Amino acid sequence: MTSILAHYSEIALKGKNRPWFIGRLVRHLHMALAGLSVKEIRTPMGRIEIVLGREAAADEIRDRMSRVFGIANYSVAARVPLDFDGMADAIVSRLPPRESVSSFRVYVRRADQHFAVPSPDLARDLGSKVWHARGWKVDLDHADLVISIEIVPRGAFLYMNKEPGPGGLPTGTAGRVVALLSGGIDSPVAAWRMMKRGCHVTLVHFHSAPFLSNTSQEKARRLAEVLTRYQLRSRLHLVPFGELQRQVTLSVPGDLRVVIYRRFMLRIAERIAKDARAKALVTGDVVGQVASQTLANIAATDSAVRMPIFRPLVGMDKEEIMAQAARLGTFGISIVPDQDTCTLFTPRHPETHARRHQVDEAEASLPVADLVKAAAAQAAVEDMTYPVVK
Ligand code: ATP
Ligand code: MG
Repeated sequence: MTSILAHYSEIALKGKNRPWFIGRLVRHLHMALAGLSVKEIRTPMGRIEIVLGREAAADEIRDRMSRVFGIANYSVAARVPLDFDGMADAIVSRLPPRESVSSFRVYVRRADQHFAVPSPDLARDLGSKVWHARGWKVDLDHADLVISIEIVPRGAFLYMNKEPGPGGLPTGTAGRVVALLSGGIDSPVAAWRMMKRGCHVTLVHFHSAPFLSNTSQEKARRLAEVLTRYQLRSRLHLVPFGELQRQVTLSVPGDLRVVIYRRFMLRIAERIAKDARAKALVTGDVVGQVASQTLANIAATDSAVRMPIFRPLVGMDKEEIMAQAARLGTFGISIVPDQDTCTLFTPRHPETHARRHQVDEAEASLPVADLVKAAAAQAAVEDMTYPVVK
C-alpha cells in the first residue's frame, strides 16, 4: 500500500488548537487532491498519511502537495511490517541502483515508544543491511540518499528522501483579508504571502475601462487563477474606477491625484472587506519603490480607512519580489504590458510628500461616501475554484 507521508511544522506549536488546525489542513488536502484517487487521509501521531489508490498519479499529487500551506515536507511512503527483517527486506527491495548514489544514511524515528529497539540501534543495523546490499558509504551529514523509517502504533513508514512543502499555516485558519491586486509584480506576491500565513484572501482589482484597455482586468483574472491554486477558492472583485477618477480630476490638483486614488481604492476595498467579513486589507507597497510609496504618501493613504493594512513586502527589494513571483508562477503574467490605472489623468511627477491637510482639502468637495458606494456596487464578482474536477 502506497501513501504520501507528510509532516507539518508550525501547527505543532499551536497547543490546544492543534486538532482544529490539523482538521483544517486535512480538509484542505481533501479538496486539493480531489479527483486523484486518494482513498483516505489519516493523522497518525503528529503526521499526515494520505492513502493512495492503485491508479493514483504520483506526479500530479506531488505537484498539488507542493502548494498546500501547512505542509513542512512530504514523501511517497510505504507501510512496512514492525519487525526488523520485514523492515530490512522492504528497504533493500526498494534501493536505487548502486551507481545512482554514493553515500547514504538511515534515519529512524520512534513516534511509538512501544517498539522496543532504540532508534540508533535500529538505524545502525538497518544501515548495515544497506551497506551489504550496495556498498555505499555512510554519511551522517550530507548523504545522497536518506532512508527513513518512522514507527507509529501498529506499523512503520518507509520513505527515501523527502520534498520540502511550502510551509506556512493551513488556508483559512487565520481568517479573511482583502488584497488589492493590480496587474503588477508586487501585489500578487503580497496576496500569496498572506495566504501562506493562513489567510483566505479575497481579491479586488480596480480598472479604468473604458478609459483604458481591458488588459489589466484580464491580467488580474489570470493572476487570481494562479493564486487560486494555493487557496483553492477565490473571489475576485473587478471594480470600475475610471468614472470616479474622472470626478476626482474635477477638483483635485494633478500632483495629488495618485494619493487620492489610493485612498479611494482603500475605502472601496474596506467596504468590500466588511461585507466579506474580512478583518484587514493587503497591498503590495514597498517603501521607496515608486513616488506613491514614500513614507509620507503611505501615511497619507492609510488615514482613509480604519482597518489594518498589511504590506507584507514593505521591506523587500524588487529583485527578491521578482524571484518570489517567478517561483509562485505570477511573474510571466505580471510583465505583460498594460496601462496603469493610477497614471490615468495624472502628471508625470506626482507629489511625493502629501500632507494630511492637503489631502483633506482636496477631498472636501468630493461626495466621498457616494463615490465609494457607487464603485463598490458596480463591481463585477467572479468566483474561481481549483482543482476543477470533471
Ligand atoms: P504592483 O506590482 O503590485 O502593481 P507597483 O510597484 O506597481 O506594485 P503601485 O502601482 O504603486 O505599485 O501600487 C501599490 C499597491 O497598490 C499595489 O501593490 C496594489 O496593492 C495597489 N494597487 C495599485 N493599483 C491597483 C489597482 N489597479 N487595483 C488594485 N490594487 C492596486
Ligand atoms: Mg502597480
